[in-house]
Amino acid sequence: MNWKPEDSSKEYMVPHWGEDYFSINREGDFLVNPFADERSIKFKDILEELEDRKIAFPTVIRFHDILIHRVRSLFKNFIQTMEKIDYKGHYRGVYPIKVNQMREVVEEITLAGEKYFMGLEAGSKAELLAILSFPLPKESVCILNGYKDEEYLKLALLGRKMGRKMIIVLEKFSELKKTVELAKELKIKPMIGIRARLETQGAGPWSESTGPRAKFGFTPSEILKAQDYLEENDMLDTFRLLHFHIGSQIPNLSTMREAATEATRIYSDLVKSGVNLKYLDIGGGLGVNYEGIIGGSNTSVNYRASDYIENLLQTIKTICDEEEINHPDIISESGRFITAHHSCIVTEVFGTTQCASANGEKKKIKNANANPYIKELSELLTNLSESNFQESFYRSIQIKQEVLQSYKRGKLSLHERSDVDNCYRALLESIEEMDIDYDDYSNFFEKIEKEITSQYIFNLSVFQSIPDSWAIEQILPIVPLTRLDEEPTKSVSLVDITCDSDGKIKKYLSTDGKREYVRLHKLQKDENYPVGIFMTGAYQDIMGDMHNLFGRLNEVHIYFDEEDPWKFYVEEVINGNTTGKILSTLQYNPETMADRVKSVIDDQIRRGKIKPRDGVAWIDFYESALDSYTYLK
Ligand SMILES: *Cc1c(COP(=O)(O)O)cnc(C)c1O
Repeated sequence: MNWKPEDSSKEYMVPHWGEDYFSINREGDFLVNPFADERSIKFKDILEELEDRKIAFPTVIRFHDILIHRVRSLFKNFIQTMEKIDYKGHYRGVYPIKVNQMREVVEEITLAGEKYFMGLEAGSKAELLAILSFPLPKESVCILNGYKDEEYLKLALLGRKMGRKMIIVLEKFSELKKTVELAKELKIKPMIGIRARLETQGAGPWSESTGPRAKFGFTPSEILKAQDYLEENDMLDTFRLLHFHIGSQIPNLSTMREAATEATRIYSDLVKSGVNLKYLDIGGGLGVNYEGIIGGSNTSVNYRASDYIENLLQTIKTICDEEEINHPDIISESGRFITAHHSCIVTEVFGTTQCASANGEKKKIKNANANPYIKELSELLTNLSESNFQESFYRSIQIKQEVLQSYKRGKLSLHERSDVDNCYRALLESIEEMDIDYDDYSNFFEKIEKEITSQYIFNLSVFQSIPDSWAIEQILPIVPLTRLDEEPTKSVSLVDITCDSDGKIKKYLSTDGKREYVRLHKLQKDENYPVGIFMTGAYQDIMGDMHNLFGRLNEVHIYFDEEDPWKFYVEEVINGNTTGKILSTLQYNPETMADRVKSVIDDQIRRGKIKPRDGVAWIDFYESALDSYTYLK
């Protein structure tokens, strides 16, 4: 088959998940289109710049223009839809920083959202401290979720003193009492919201964010109790917002519509009983397509953002009109939608864990002894053709089983068994490389892949950089950044460099359901084979752990530049962790460590076991290793 770059685009399903931010051109270049239009940067050029600057893999690449584009398109979508359906409230989006708290990311988002009065959301004390430090327009709203102690509440009131619209969203009743007492004591008028615990069940992987088993929220009777309590304390006018959140990555529109209906009814009942509500906060959940297979998958959604927004606003408007109340200002807390696409990880695949290629062994086998199994396999291999490849495969599986039995009974040597293995793999590889149309025999090839899927090692820690791939089998797009005009003939699974056997990617995207392998190219000798893992900007970047002490990655921040010959410039480089730095987070002191190693070596020198010059070189080596990147070189 004559493989073209378009075939690679299909193989890696770029149009499905790329949302126009990524593409493969006719020359086989992988491109980022930071504004989702024809303007583009070649990955090849970015990789070259990384090399010039000696920035080692793995590296996180952030495309700031994508962040800006996501923020603007979210706001434009809400604003245009509001105009279209004659919705009278405002849209006041906030960015929940837990999705990616990195300062540069939050800064870029608030800057892009400034003219729309975008605000921020915090879910913990540290996040609240962070959001207070960002300059925001006075119209912007800040939403404070999560469990709160007195210090948290006091920080919220500090925000009020700073002239901010800080809305304390209460998660449970006891927080209300504390808030009222503190506000009275400090004589600051708070803005209060209440998180409703909706009965409507969510759907998708995070469905238990609402419903009777949810961790957070007020039941209807608790909401009424809160209303009474505020009234008794002469503070009912501080109750400004009703919040709900039914989970991240909501898979379908009907779930969201049901939840919005229940919440709007509660909102309108409260308004009609005299509460001074102004905002309806619909939480997060606006999903993205990691796979782009519409329907039936946790990592894809069955709607476009514009459908989601229109459905939502229409649902709220219809109920408000029916109840004859003002349309609320809408707040949404979309994190995944804004950040998922903007960052990716580039790293290198550098080899395989097993049987590099059995084909190299073919010649040796031909000369092998007269063992009947080997003879038969060799014949199958020699006579392999389009008319008998299926039969040959099934027969070879039988042979392999017979060989194992013979070996266990002591009838074959380890050498003979190894020859059979090599011959078997050579046969399967030859079938895999035959010029047969994959689609006609997809079931058959599935079986072959299962037998010979080899493992490629990639320079990364799954636990640090793509934790959801490990924790919830989240699928992330993976694309080789080279040889896209060539057919990828190897079916491989990717394993990482941690010593944990769970450190691998188990599920890969494909149009015909989840695959346990990805097709990559057969590695050539000494080849640099870079791959990209995409859509890591939401949660993955920030949730990683320290398993095996690999630590944070090198990172570059990239902006598009029309004038530049390569169409981009690197605005910032942030070095990843050195081994010494990551150890010091666990109370090790690199200097003391080096001293201790030195004193042992000195001792060995005194005893004449090491020559002084060698000893000094070994100490230097230990010290320089404490100062090197934690990943493989
Ligand atoms: C996590 C979370 C969000 C963000 O949800 P996305 O689906 O990423 O947009 C918003 N609000 C609350 C309360 C959350 O817990």
